[in-house]
Amino acid sequence: MPARPTFSFRPLTLALLATSLAGPGTSALAAENAAPLKATAAASSARETAAETEPKAKGEKGEKAEAPKRTAAPKPVDPLEHVRERLAEKLGATKPAEVPEPNVVRVVTRATAPVASARAPRLNAAASRGDPPSPLAERLATEHRARAEAAHAQWDYAGSGGPDTWGQMKPEFARCSSGLRQSPIDIRDGIKVNLDPVQFDYKPSAFRVLDNGHTVQVNVGPGNSIDVGGRRYDLVQFHFHRPSEERINGRQFDMVVHLVHKDIDNRLAVVAVLLDRGSAHPLVQNVWNNLPLEKGDEVAARTMIDLSALLPTERSYFTYMGSLTTPPCSEGVLWMVMKAPMPISSEQIGIFARLYPMNARPIQSVSGRLIKESN
Ligand SMILES: [Zn+2]
Repeated sequence: MPARPTFSFRPLTLALLATSLAGPGTSALAAENAAPLKATAAASSARETAAETEPKAKGEKGEKAEAPKRTAAPKPVDPLEHVRERLAEKLGATKPAEVPEPNVVRVVTRATAPVASARAPRLNAAASRGDPPSPLAERLATEHRARAEAAHAQWDYAGSGGPDTWGQMKPEFARCSSGLRQSPIDIRDGIKVNLDPVQFDYKPSAFRVLDNGHTVQVNVGPGNSIDVGGRRYDLVQFHFHRPSEERINGRQFDMVVHLVHKDIDNRLAVVAVLLDRGSAHPLVQNVWNNLPLEKGDEVAARTMIDLSALLPTERSYFTYMGSLTTPPCSEGVLWMVMKAPMPISSEQIGIFARLYPMNARPIQSVSGRLIKESN
């Protein structure tokens, strides 16, 4: 999630804004004003989910589960722009002179919106009477600022937004800490059985490369699918992690590609192809050649991509039920980890490392789950 505009409401600005919006029916106005903010927040959140599952184009959700949401996700809209428009609408009619500088007014697009609407009238009243700020108003402002800061917290792989905090960031991420069927895992002690091979139906396709702020993601045109267990899943996107998130008998690889598929019921199936240092990989190079210059930008490649080239010749695999490895960590994801790694050159690893030196979620507990592997 690139550069989702981060907005913060400064207390003073809040009061100003509230004053500007004040007048008869202030509460109704504030509530109305909050609605678009909420909608924007939803859109923004849908885009975020799209990050790892990341089929952003179709609106799939991180190796994601909120696929239905994505489908409904509106086209990306600059939330700040939207807020500006709303402000202009509200303020323009009555007090054009008070329209705050667009670059100064920052508005929280997330959970803070309702807070603002609930409190604005009280802060307003004081401000419009010209009273000095009361202790209550100051306390509310401080509280508001704290909430705005919390809402800003972005999930990450280290630091204050690291994996240990994902589950507490928002209710939708709770599974990240409470789930018992999470990914990635250290794959070992698999049961050797005759697994049906995964039937890959990949073909040369148009693609777009996106730096979503957490990884390099490639959105692939329609027409690619896999068949597993009699069920067909369409490829939505693929993306990279460094180092590999999954381990095999404790071993971590240089990188991994996650190919995210979704079936007609929005069930997710992810094929993982481990990447091991060796010769350069032409398909990876094709993707790197189209890297966007800026996070959040999506580059439409002028070449085609054939994901078959990414698959090892020997296609035995491990399979288990897990989750998205990024918030919201939704479960019910069918994982298929190819046993044979594919090569990637040091230079190619180095290029990804410049963008994302470490974007692997730590290993999660297996919690007694069954792991099967091809004989
Ligand atoms: Zn992934």
